[in-house]
Amino acid sequence: MKSTNQHITFKVDKIRKDFPILSRKVNGKPLVYFDNAATSQTPQVVIDAIVNYYSNYNANIHRGVHTLSQEATDAYEQARQKIQKHFNAQHSHEIIFTSGTTHAINLVANGFSSLLKKDDEIIVSALEHHSNIVPWQMLCEQTGAILKVIPMNQEGELIISAYDKLLSENTKLVFVNHISNALGTINPIEEIIKKAHDVNAAVLVDGAQACPHLKPDVQALDVDFYVASAHKMCGPTGIGMLYGKSTWLNKLPPYQGGGEMIEEVTFEKTTYADLPYKFEAGTPNICGGIAFGVAIDYLNSIGFDAIASYENELLNYATQNLLEIEGLKIYGTSPNKTSVISFNIEGIHPYDIGTIVDKLGIAVRTGHHCAQPIMDFYEIPGTVRASFSFYNTKEEIDALVYAVKKAKTMLL
Ligand SMILES: *Cc1c(COP(=O)(O)O)cnc(C)c1O
Repeated sequence: MKSTNQHITFKVDKIRKDFPILSRKVNGKPLVYFDNAATSQTPQVVIDAIVNYYSNYNANIHRGVHTLSQEATDAYEQARQKIQKHFNAQHSHEIIFTSGTTHAINLVANGFSSLLKKDDEIIVSALEHHSNIVPWQMLCEQTGAILKVIPMNQEGELIISAYDKLLSENTKLVFVNHISNALGTINPIEEIIKKAHDVNAAVLVDGAQACPHLKPDVQALDVDFYVASAHKMCGPTGIGMLYGKSTWLNKLPPYQGGGEMIEEVTFEKTTYADLPYKFEAGTPNICGGIAFGVAIDYLNSIGFDAIASYENELLNYATQNLLEIEGLKIYGTSPNKTSVISFNIEGIHPYDIGTIVDKLGIAVRTGHHCAQPIMDFYEIPGTVRASFSFYNTKEEIDALVYAVKKAKTMLL
């Protein structure tokens, strides 16, 4: 049974039916949702999982002997195993549920405050989201460690030769995002990790923007920490994960004290629970964790190869058609990028474009995208950012191009 047809058409019309929100109207026009880099939309299977949890087995986990508690605990722990498998972590206890990427980064930064000393060095990249800058600045203030920055070039890529020069035996930690949320650049994290390990520094990769588009293998990457948020991967808000190598997670002190994270408590001394519970104080977002697992199943049912090739098609189509608009400039022009287009039109404030295209039912983001240093680099106040997902279409991109042209004639 040989198939000569290599190219399997992506069934986007069928996929769109999985997302109830995509059939609503905004300002009398069909919704065109191009703010996927801020949060993704939610398929019916994930909505159903949330309704099912609260309708049928809502209970606190790990504590009760009663049936509902056991059902909830089983579902929550199964979700952890799904996430483990998805990221190819060696052990399920290396997956810590957090409220999201920001929480996960703060958990690690807080842990390192007891491991760093004055004049140790931390390296971040110029392409970071604020959530991957501020916690490290706070950590440096606390410990006297020094923050160094890998610079970027005009294409929106990190300059690896400059990174080489920053690395030394004083480097203890390197933090870099896998994909930039503002520009879409895919960073060469394999190389960054390898070079950091050569000087015995640990690496945390912020995968918030990568995980909707690709399937990272944490063991193959040999990354020390990898973090992500469910709400950018078709899951709900308020849940995310920290992967950490167990050797590192055992070394870090707990982040918050409370129930769930202890083994034994007396007023003299408390001993902490084993991984992963050491880092999961209090009642977690049980429903969110379960729904995160369902979202991962959903993405895998579509397949990351199919997602990547279709989104790349959308990116190329949008890039070509937007660039036909005179005066339009795209920021982030690396050949290694995902389906994010950050742009401006000469002489027009990005906010004004965003407002006009919204009147036509199109959701884009305007502003600095929580990445002010990148905007400062380009000496601009912000950009219009259109970010595409596998449920978007070329017809929607046509609508965007039309709307941007219209905004231009109205504003210039
Ligand atoms: C969205 C995002 C974050 C923050 O994620 P939260 O879910 O808001 O915690 C961090 N880094 C990158 C690259 C992002 O895209």
